[in-house]
Amino acid sequence: MDEFGLIRRYFTRRARYAGVIVGVGDDGAILEPAAGLQQVQVIDTVVEGVHFPRGLPAADVGYRVVAVNLSDIASMGAVPRWMTLALTLAGQDEQWVEGFASGLFEAADAHGVDLVGGDTTRGEVAVATVHVTGEIEAGRALLRSGARTGDTVFVTGSPGDAAAGLSLLEDGRGDDYLTRRFRRPTPRIATGRALVGVASACIDVSDGLVGDLRKLCEASGVGADVDVGSLPLSDDIVAAFGRDRAIEFALTGGDDYELCFTASADAVAGLDGVTAIGVITDGGAIVCRRDGAIVDVDDGGYRHFA
Ligand code: ADP
Ligand code: MG
Repeated sequence: MDEFGLIRRYFTRRARYAGVIVGVGDDGAILEPAAGLQQVQVIDTVVEGVHFPRGLPAADVGYRVVAVNLSDIASMGAVPRWMTLALTLAGQDEQWVEGFASGLFEAADAHGVDLVGGDTTRGEVAVATVHVTGEIEAGRALLRSGARTGDTVFVTGSPGDAAAGLSLLEDGRGDDYLTRRFRRPTPRIATGRALVGVASACIDVSDGLVGDLRKLCEASGVGADVDVGSLPLSDDIVAAFGRDRAIEFALTGGDDYELCFTASADAVAGLDGVTAIGVITDGGAIVCRRDGAIVDVDDGGYRHFA
C-alpha cells in the first residue's frame, strides 16, 4: 500500500472536537481556537532504538508517542485537543502501521484528542513525531518557575516503574505491571487540571525524578530537600529489584511521565495518587536524604548529545 492508501486507511478519522474545521485530507488543517483560551503546543519524537527498543509492539509505539506528548500537556495544566503526526517508516509493513495506528488512537481517544494532519515518509529508522495542541484558560498554565521556599514537593504515581520495566524488556522479559508502565505511560491530564490554581510549579518527569526536579528548581531559583524514605515505590518494583535498586530507579530512571509539582502542604488534600516527597529550600541545591543521611544521586538522567 502506498503512502496515500496508508493515510486514508489508518490515519483518517472523523474529528470529534467542534474546533476542527478541516482535518486530514487537505494541504493543511483548519482549527477554530476556543474564545478566551490560550494554546499550549508540545512536540515529542520517539526514535526506534533510542526511545524504544526495536521490536516493541507497534501498538505500544503508537500509544507511547501520544502519551509522552499528553504528559507535557498535563504538566502545563491544559486540556489536549488536536495533534499532528510525522511518521517515518523503515521497512515496517502495513501490519505494523495498523498496530501503530490502533495504539495511537487508543491513547488519543482516552483523552479526546483529534488527529488533524501529518506526514508519512520512508527512512533509515522508524521515527514518530507527534505535535499536540492543548487549551487552557488564559494565564492559568502551570509553569516550572513558580516554586517558593517552604512549598512541599509532590509526585504522582510510583516513579521508577517504567525504567524498571524497560530494563526487564531489554532482558527479554514480557508482559507484567512494570513493563506495561514503560509501554503504556499514563498521562496525568486529570491531575494536571486539578492542579491549576493549586500548584505553584509543575514539570513532567521524563528524564528521572531528581533531574527533572532540578530543572523545576533552576527555573524557580530555589533548591529542594527530598526524603528518599517517602518515595512512593510500587510493590512490584520492590519485589522485582529490592528496595535499594528501586530507589535508584525512582530517583534517576527515565520514562515515568508522572508529574512533579510544588504546592502548599495542605493544598492537595483529596487529590488521589499524589505523594509528598520533600520541601523547597533556599539556594540551588537538590539534597536527597535517606534516614537523615545525604545520599549521592547521579541525576544526569537521559541526555541527547551529552
Ligand atoms: P502534502 O504533500 O500536501 O504535504 P501529504 O500527502 O503529505 O500532503 O498529506 C496529505 C494529507 O494527509 C494532509 O492532510 C496531511 O496532513 C495528512 N497526513 C499525511 N500523513 C499523515 C499521518 N501519518 N497522519 C495523519 N495525517 C497525515
Ligand atoms: Mg507531505
